Amino acid sequence: MDKTRTMRNIIVLSLFILGFFSYKKSEQKQVLKPQKKHVELHILDGGQITVNKLELFSEDTTYQGQNKVLADPYYIVIHPNGKLIWDGGLPENLVGLAEPFTDPSGAFTVSRKDSVKNQLKSIGLTVNDIEYIALSHSHSDHLGHANAFKNSTWLVQENEYDFITNDSAKVKQADTYNLIKDLIKIKKLKGDFDVFGDGTVVIKSMPGHTIGHQVLYLDIGFDQPILLTGDLYHFEENRTNQRAPIFNYDIPQTKESMKAFETFAKKNNANVFIQHSTSDFERLKALLNN
Ligand SMILES: [Zn+2]
Repeated sequence: MDKTRTMRNIIVLSLFILGFFSYKKSEQKQVLKPQKKHVELHILDGGQITVNKLELFSEDTTYQGQNKVLADPYYIVIHPNGKLIWDGGLPENLVGLAEPFTDPSGAFTVSRKDSVKNQLKSIGLTVNDIEYIALSHSHSDHLGHANAFKNSTWLVQENEYDFITNDSAKVKQADTYNLIKDLIKIKKLKGDFDVFGDGTVVIKSMPGHTIGHQVLYLDIGFDQPILLTGDLYHFEENRTNQRAPIFNYDIPQTKESMKAFETFAKKNNANVFIQHSTSDFERLKALLNN
């Protein structure tokens, strides 16, 4: 074997080895995923609701004459690839009122202590730090501070978006529309959506309460994944008995979503938190402080 040929073989072999290592490196890069323990969750207080006519929350007369206090939290997810706010609490024009506000029908009395800007500050964030906003659904107790996130991308089911922004809704449901009208960066969803593409933060479509109602699944390193209900259930009794409020958009569809939710929760061994439940508010706060 002549010298030139030997040199050429050595060069070819070296290039092959180098190429192999750089291939391995890029291969490793592709499969690297954020560690679940690096995803943080915060629960913040978006106000309080006293339901004065609890009978609205069942198709039968079960709750006739009863009332109940509901929590109204919202959540911040801090993922290595971005931050998400889930839900918007009660409208911020309630902040600073001397007395809680009762709606004209007398069904609900609502209050909110602080604005999202102040509350985000308490965890070292500003509204401009939040890349994504997702709302379980378009009712005013979930849209309260949505307009503060005009630079964020709104993750919304396409049918929910159409329902709340069509020309008729802008007039007939102006109070609701006005709470989201500043959101202009829109990503329309058709069903489930894995927000960061790694299975840690997944929006699940669970229609019925509204046309495009959704819940949030968080597999972020706790013993069990966390599953936030949105308003699929408002309190424990309705989960136990699979009861739906009479004001839902579609009650049979809600019941189907309840079945799908329970199957999903069981399959994933999820820790379910009913967002409006005052005891679940405290239970999640305690879990996150650990
Ligand atoms: Zn609600």
